[in-house]
Amino acid sequence: MNIADSDYMAGILEDCGCIKTDEPDASDIIVINTCTVRQHAEDRAVSYLGTLKKLKEKKPHLKIYFAGCAASLLTDEKELRLFTQRFPFVDGIIPAGKLNIFRGIVGKLLSDSPATREANNIADVRRSSEACEFVTISHGCSNYCSYCIVPYTRGPLISRPPSEIISEITFLIKHRNITDITLLGQNVNSYKWQDVNFADLLKKISAIEGLETVGFLTSHPKDMNEEIIETVAVSNKIRKSFHLPLQSGSDRILSLMNRGYTAAHYKNLVGKIRSSIPDAIITTDIIVGFPTETDEDFEKTLSLLKDMRFENFFAFKYSPRPGTAAAAMPDDIPLEIKEERLQRLLAVIKKPAQEKNQ
Ligand code: SF4
Repeated sequence: MNIADSDYMAGILEDCGCIKTDEPDASDIIVINTCTVRQHAEDRAVSYLGTLKKLKEKKPHLKIYFAGCAASLLTDEKELRLFTQRFPFVDGIIPAGKLNIFRGIVGKLLSDSPATREANNIADVRRSSEACEFVTISHGCSNYCSYCIVPYTRGPLISRPPSEIISEITFLIKHRNITDITLLGQNVNSYKWQDVNFADLLKKISAIEGLETVGFLTSHPKDMNEEIIETVAVSNKIRKSFHLPLQSGSDRILSLMNRGYTAAHYKNLVGKIRSSIPDAIITTDIIVGFPTETDEDFEKTLSLLKDMRFENFFAFKYSPRPGTAAAAMPDDIPLEIKEERLQRLLAVIKKPAQEKNQ
């Protein structure tokens, strides 16, 4: 999602005549697009911002913008004051849910440039010249999983109109030669625009001329249904790949996480996918060390993971995100136990891979 957002902002800058560089020293405008999904990502972004102080002293005309999810957390007056005291050299803040304000900021900044005046007439498809294949179909999320900060940083789920999504894909095929698209949303399968649901959207997109392949990320197990599975099964354009975050195999932990499904529901869902699409690739995410996770809870996760024989998975040690419901629970699993559980999970993924190679 952050890659797609960065591409959107890079596209606005390019529309206004800017040229992309990977060298901060050569830049006149720097946008730091941040992620807060884990504390580590947020710390890295803030620490990088600190390193730009010297550059700004050397080049006072340099404009620095702090964007994305960490910027969204600065809505509180006190937080914002502390941030501006610490980083007085930042010229603007662009929250993740309000990236469209960047258009106005850049327009004002470069108002004298002929490219900016021309850019005002371009349809609202902002893409950099090295456009990525991601197309956002919905913003935000209304699920409020207890550990997750996304609903606070990106706001509630808002689906984009199908016509807008289709024009963006058509633009990418025509002007950027991209024929393999990945549809993005925090929870793609809860997509809903008037009477168009996610399966309908997939069918409409598959019909776009020139599009060769379309995939989607990320699906929520509680919103995955037979209509979507069937749509994928019969299509020769939709990638037969499902990323379905499980998070835990223990119903008690799933309920504390506010995930809205049980381990049995999840197992059943994977069974349906595998029987309708025998060559489906199913991947998942797991969190270890969620508050109060016992050995027994963890063993349930481990056992489900072995059972499901995922093609791949991503495992994370739980880290509390301030402001979420889980942050009010005690982070009571010692780091060494989180680490040990993580290693035991990672050992599982190696086995099927080895078996496949034999
Ligand atoms: S569905 Fe995903 S993005 Fe939404 S709250 Fe849950 S973990 Fe966060």
